[in-house]
Amino acid sequence: MQIPCTAREKELFGSVAQAARQIGVPCYLIGGFVRDKLLNRSTKDMDIVCVGDGIALAHRVASLLDPAIKVNYFKTYGTAQIRYKDIEIEFVGARRESYSENSRNPEVAPGTLEDDQLRRDFTINALAISLNEADYGQLLDPFNGQQDLADKIIRTPLDPARTFSDDPLRMMRGIRFASQLHFRIHPETFQAIKDNAERIKIITQERITDELNKIMLSSKPSIGLDLLYQAGLLKIIFPQMVDLVGVETVEGKGHKDNFYHTLQVIDNISRHTRDLWLRWAALMHDIGKPATKRFEEGHGWTFHGHDAVGGKMVPRIFARLKLPQHESMRLVKKLVELHLRPISLTKENITDSAIRRLLFDAGEDLDALMMLCEADITSKNKAKVKRYLENFELVRERLKEVEESDRIRNWQPPITGEMIMETFNLKPGRIVGDLKNTIREAILDGEIPNSFDAAYQYMLQKAKELDLTPVK
Ligand code: ATP
Repeated sequence: MQIPCTAREKELFGSVAQAARQIGVPCYLIGGFVRDKLLNRSTKDMDIVCVGDGIALAHRVASLLDPAIKVNYFKTYGTAQIRYKDIEIEFVGARRESYSENSRNPEVAPGTLEDDQLRRDFTINALAISLNEADYGQLLDPFNGQQDLADKIIRTPLDPARTFSDDPLRMMRGIRFASQLHFRIHPETFQAIKDNAERIKIITQERITDELNKIMLSSKPSIGLDLLYQAGLLKIIFPQMVDLVGVETVEGKGHKDNFYHTLQVIDNISRHTRDLWLRWAALMHDIGKPATKRFEEGHGWTFHGHDAVGGKMVPRIFARLKLPQHESMRLVKKLVELHLRPISLTKENITDSAIRRLLFDAGEDLDALMMLCEADITSKNKAKVKRYLENFELVRERLKEVEESDRIRNWQPPITGEMIMETFNLKPGRIVGDLKNTIREAILDGEIPNSFDAAYQYMLQKAKELDLTPVK
């Protein structure tokens, strides 16, 4: 075997080989598992292709390993999966595929190993290793995938135009692999992606977004996002991002290219977190800029309100991309809305109340927000970056001081709506809401201390102004 493998993997190869021999079907390791092993990347998914019935092979392997193992299988696709400890193994019978114009679902017929390698999307994904007695452990590499791995090249085994037209999801996959592995896409393959970009429209949004998320989770997402842009795919799947592209100049004044700035912010944040949603917040933080861009004479370019406008765009974009609509969306929206606030606190003479407000508004997401803001510093001027980072340190200190004295983070105002209703015998309504907000604002502004007694007295005083009297 030419690949490094664990004792458990060796045990599994042995069982698969034995099962295949028993039922008389040649079998091979194939695809992503072989690729990742040759690249020394960790992998938990193992793909096995056999020249025969993949489902029967899966059952035989399971009974050899442990009869209690459950075999999940899909008769229509001829595939089966088993899980052995922490390894997921997928079995499929070798097949030949032919495609029609309007679907990425091919007509399938049983085939040879070579047929099966031919249907694979990239040369680096078509590598197979024999598990058969005669040539056990031999690498079967009809398209020079090993050389492409060494040269870090993504290319299709067959005519790329045909490959992408048959199944346009492969365009997203190719770019995703380039982003995950830091590989280049071969010029002819890339040209074919450009030529077939429109075909992405036949792919379901869920699959597209799945690949987009994998790009977002790669160590340098800018690689994949820029390739999506260059290929013409981004303007189809995420046009609002493409609106960020470009620099306009008026009276000799230009603004920065917000697309490339955004990519840099994503790469910056990705060095500090693997959290998909913080990365999405970085992707969206300036999404409101194109809609708010103005040139003010004598002043230059402004993007007033792009934080609020951007925040409003988040739910719509998430819905269109079929990203989750709840917690994660709310976090991204909140971070987009608040992303200018810490920067505004780096100015001189910032009051405690401004700091308290940020603590209150950001709540438990304050650290995430600060991380986004630091990632947002993309100036090439080293002195400037140093100054910004030092200013942020000062903001962090102030936040800490105010938090220690006032405990505003994750804070609930001491007077609730129920208390107000009970005290003045009120039904739910605007007065209750207004009174509650007035008390909260007074605490955040530092007008009264953050204590129940002070808030209660303040409530009585404000209620009196509204002619309300307590019932007890
Ligand atoms: P990852 O596990 O990181 O998603 P992978 O290459 O293992 O990468 P899978 O989706 O598990 O991806 O696919 C396993 C193998 O099946 C691939 O390596 C490739 O050979 C083949 N394959 C998957 N999707 C396609 C496709 N759309 N067109 C052609 N071959 C494909």
